[in-house]
Amino acid sequence: MGTRLQGTVALVTGASSGIGAATAQSLAAEGAAVALVARRKGRLEKLAAAIRAEGGTALAVAADITERQQAADAVATVVAELGRLDTVVNNAGLMHIGPAAQALSEDWDSMVEINVNGVLHVTHAALPHLIRAAADSPRRVADLINISSTAGRVARPGTAVYNLTKFGVNGFSEALRQEVREQGVRVGVVEPGTVATELSSHLRDGVREAIERQVDGLELLRPEDVADAVAYIVTRDRRVAVNEMLVRASDQSW
Ligand code: NDP
Repeated sequence: MGTRLQGTVALVTGASSGIGAATAQSLAAEGAAVALVARRKGRLEKLAAAIRAEGGTALAVAADITERQQAADAVATVVAELGRLDTVVNNAGLMHIGPAAQALSEDWDSMVEINVNGVLHVTHAALPHLIRAAADSPRRVADLINISSTAGRVARPGTAVYNLTKFGVNGFSEALRQEVREQGVRVGVVEPGTVATELSSHLRDGVREAIERQVDGLELLRPEDVADAVAYIVTRDRRVAVNEMLVRASDQSW
């Protein structure tokens, strides 16, 4: 195990699968105690057990972070149980794509609820703890990382509302970066290209097949590739702030 994050506590949302699970593992491998937040408690417990088996510290916290109170309670539980909060990775998210004219408006709502409101609820609850951690930790720095997307930089037909949420995350992150910089909190976005995860399993029939055709034959990113990017940012010395990382699959043209 690495030691660069020894003595720190990291909270990762959406840690029950995909990018969040890989990120929690990579931060734990650097010595951070990790809090795993998502709704599927069984998945979180399993990952926590795997991290402990490797010698790490992990806490499973089941929460639906689209609910403001549940997000606030999750953050409070992490601080109560693990003592502090140095790193937050807002990763939980959902993608419903397809032509806007045929979309279900509840699909738009559910994307806004998790991709935007989930980020806001966790960030709001976590910021005072991150500011405190930056002031009292030996590293004198804390990190807030938001998992955006290539869809946070490039708008394309079929992804209008997903673009809305991820462009929004990028704007929010940049404004916040300027605000909390002087208090030692670094804010960054990681913008993955297409990653092999469960994200596309939530797509409606018809759309899912169209996406599968689009990526057919491409070597997709793995969740660990994005986890590497997050770990790179968090393990930098406090003089270095990596505020944005765009990580596409080499085969991806868009
Ligand atoms: P997954 O579907 O594998 O993971 C999504 C995670 O979000 C799950 O752990 C899920 O856990 C959690 N989640 C969803 N809703 C809630 C909720 N209400 N409260 C708490 N947790 C919730 O997909 P990915 O790993 O791919 O996605 C992670 C992030 O990466 C997302 O923000 C996505 O937009 C972004 N991204 C993904 C790309 C890709 O190609 N895969 C590309 C670019 C960005 P549970 O269901 O247990 O609550």
